[in-house]
Amino acid sequence: MEFYRKNTKKIQKNFSLKGNGLNSWRDYKWQLSHSIRNIDTFEHLTGIKFEEDTKKKLQDTVEKFPISITPYYASLIDGENYIQDPIFKQSFPDTRELDLMYYDMKDPLSEDEDSPVTGITHRYPDRVLFALTNTCSMYCRHCTRKRKVSDVDYTYSRKQIKEGIKYIKETTVVRDVLISGGDPFMLSDDYLDWVLSEIRKIPHVEVMRIGTRMPAVLPYRITNELVKVLKKYKNLWINTQFNHPRELTETAEIALAKLADSGIPLGNQTVLLAGVNDCPRIMKKLMHRLVQNRVRPYYLYQCDLSEGLNHFRTPVGKGIEIMENMIGHTSGFATPRYVIDAPGGGGKIPIIPNYIISWSTNKVVLRNFEGTICVYKEPDSYLPQFCDRNCDNCNLQLKLEPAREYNPRGIVKLLSDVDKTVSLVPQGTERIKRRKKR
Ligand SMILES: *Cc1c(COP(=O)(O)O)cnc(C)c1O
Ligand code: SF4
Repeated sequence: MEFYRKNTKKIQKNFSLKGNGLNSWRDYKWQLSHSIRNIDTFEHLTGIKFEEDTKKKLQDTVEKFPISITPYYASLIDGENYIQDPIFKQSFPDTRELDLMYYDMKDPLSEDEDSPVTGITHRYPDRVLFALTNTCSMYCRHCTRKRKVSDVDYTYSRKQIKEGIKYIKETTVVRDVLISGGDPFMLSDDYLDWVLSEIRKIPHVEVMRIGTRMPAVLPYRITNELVKVLKKYKNLWINTQFNHPRELTETAEIALAKLADSGIPLGNQTVLLAGVNDCPRIMKKLMHRLVQNRVRPYYLYQCDLSEGLNHFRTPVGKGIEIMENMIGHTSGFATPRYVIDAPGGGGKIPIIPNYIISWSTNKVVLRNFEGTICVYKEPDSYLPQFCDRNCDNCNLQLKLEPAREYNPRGIVKLLSDVDKTVSLVPQGTERIKRRKKR
């Protein structure tokens, strides 16, 4: 981390910050207004120089996918070996972003199609994603919403946000609201306070979550004033995005401590990125550093099929190998869940190594992380009890509040005792078309 201090000094000097001016560095507003938005500035501040023809190609890249790097995040780049640097790779354009593959998509997760009103994506039965803005302090090169984020710096109008809130109010199945973007912490404390207070008023909303990358890319945004606002909401969770242990600087740790001290449960989502963190040892280190800072690893994402991300993608096998290296080998709560967000809008699908080796009518053969093979003997006399989903007559004596979810869905439908469905059939197959003709 020595170079990090040296770098910070160098960049501060190139900004002509000295004396009292140095306090500006820790002012997130100064950081935002001095974000690096072109290659010349990047060269000037970091001292890294590119060849003329590389620079031309970089310009083309930036025209399609703009650049924005906070001076703070730029100071974490190791200038001596920037080509291999995980911070550089996540923040600085790569000319390969322009290599489009036939399977790349503008909106691989169909977030637009599953959007009933601007800003809201309603995909799962009981929760919605609520985007408040398109902007971020740092534009991650691996951003899945590349087509939107940075397109035009855009914060939804209060009117649009009200539409979103209205949708949540009217849709009583929504018990969890995931506030996202862009980065919601790009908005002012007052504005966030307003949105959170409006959502909290809705009786059926049980939890709110904010997804933000600020603790990693601009930790100075976590001010005492912001924490004071967030602390008021006792049903609020925060998810951050750290992708490499090098992002967990002292400054980032202070920001996380402020949030944790105020009682907000913290989670982290990591994106699996080729050349950045596609290594079990780096990943384990990252997860260990996170739990040390009271951040619970939540998801490890397989990189999406968005345009411009091809050079970041790994085979799924790499993710499985990473999980194989963590499950059992380290604390369970330091192990994230590895998921692929289904192209076409199917939501997150968990991927885990295989642990069940075989099965008989009353025995399950399993293997553990060391390769030990064991048998779990199932009970000889287990009487499954019929479930009519009407908990009133159940001998488990669980007097559930009127359950919201009476209708079984998906595979649960097939498992249900009361639903008569015997198969889930894709629509529009030749077989189904033939049936209809008769
Ligand atoms: C990820 C996501 C959620 C939240 O999913 P969890 O598994 O509950 O974290 C909700 N809506 C959309 C559209 C999402 O992509
Ligand atoms: S913080 Fe999130 S939304 Fe913003 S650029 Fe990074 S990945 Fe995209």
